[in-house]
Amino acid sequence: MKKRVAVLGATGSIGKSALEVITRGKDDFEVVLLSAHNNADELATLGRLWPDAAAVLSGGEGSPSQEGGRERLLAAIARCGADITLNGISGAAGLEPSMAAIEAGSALALANKETLVMAGPLVFQKAREKKVPIIPVDSEHSAVFHLIEAHGRDALDEIILTASGGPFRDYSPAEMETVSPQAALAHPTWNMGPKITIDSASMANKGLEVIEAARLFNLPPEKIKVVIHPQSIVHSMIRMKDGAVYAQLSRPDMRLPIHKALYQSEIPPSKEGAFSEFGRLDFDSLTLTFYPPDMEKFPLLDLAYETLKRGGLYPCAYNGINEAAVNAFLAGRIGFLDISRITRYVVDKDWSAEPGDIAAVLEADRQARAMAEKEIEGLKC
Ligand code: NDP
Ligand code: MG
Repeated sequence: MKKRVAVLGATGSIGKSALEVITRGKDDFEVVLLSAHNNADELATLGRLWPDAAAVLSGGEGSPSQEGGRERLLAAIARCGADITLNGISGAAGLEPSMAAIEAGSALALANKETLVMAGPLVFQKAREKKVPIIPVDSEHSAVFHLIEAHGRDALDEIILTASGGPFRDYSPAEMETVSPQAALAHPTWNMGPKITIDSASMANKGLEVIEAARLFNLPPEKIKVVIHPQSIVHSMIRMKDGAVYAQLSRPDMRLPIHKALYQSEIPPSKEGAFSEFGRLDFDSLTLTFYPPDMEKFPLLDLAYETLKRGGLYPCAYNGINEAAVNAFLAGRIGFLDISRITRYVVDKDWSAEPGDIAAVLEADRQARAMAEKEIEGLKC
């Protein structure tokens, strides 16, 4: 029987890659839901390619007699009957759709790292209650997930997340002060949506991934290391207690982790080789280098560790403030280094409350953004 798949954020970078994987595996999958936010034209095009799928645009407020876009999306997730939901929505907006999918009993193939950064414990509690798996799509976490699956959890000592270092890894702080959004959007190895690309340049993305890893693999911050690896070939590693280190290598192509998540490690034998081009490596001219991250130059990475240690709503606040600041940078309202200054400043408020439910998480996210916006206004260049 075909697996029923909901693709959230279908018009984005992850969404498009997911639809390519599904197209190749069309005997194995049926698309039941496609979502976009504002991009109505592209959603309509996708709707023509997948005529049996419901297509939902989540943007817009709706009218008094009509559901708002967000509610429309949550209702569609609840009733689409997906076996697995691929969440490729960008930013904090992905949290409620993730919860709706779990609530509906769907497995979750999760690219939206914000879901776990904002509300990891609550999300896993709900997933346990509903007995649904959460399978990471983020390339580093996919690597670690499948390495642990292969080598066992008992003898695991620590995980080592790789980071490309982004376009500014060799810049001085003075050079970073004046970089334009265009320069920050030019990622050396990955082609991704704007938010995550800016986060890669500031290393906030790796910070979010450290928090994501702590949630997914239930590890304390000191057991999660980060190493710069500019080639983006080694997607992450696990170090075992006996000293052995296992790594996952492939070309930087998100179709591979998406494929692994959608098939949930059960690749039908007939498909052998059909997807191998996604990550096929040529070893004839391969150089791999590694060096430690510069925490002073990229304070948002260090700050993510700090929020994890402080617990409560700190990681959620970090995510919301950074997202607001990144949007302001992309809009030309603040400079690149203001993103980390504002995030540091607002994170230092009191976020110690332990959220009891998703509503408390969303309220903290709203407050974090409002405080960030005040700082942005104060700084406006
Ligand atoms: P994109 O910006 O390319 O795509 C975002 C998608 O989400 C679009 O379909 C967009 O619709 C939709 N969307 C935007 N805002 C909202 C909203 N408020 N509510 C509902 N839907 C919305 O992002 P990416 O594909 O790059 O990233 C998606 C997620 O995956 C992020 O969490 C990112 O961190 C994660 N990720 C991405 C990787 C990548 O290679 N791109 C790698 C690892 C993780 P519309 O087109 O209408 O705006
Ligand atoms: Mg990643």
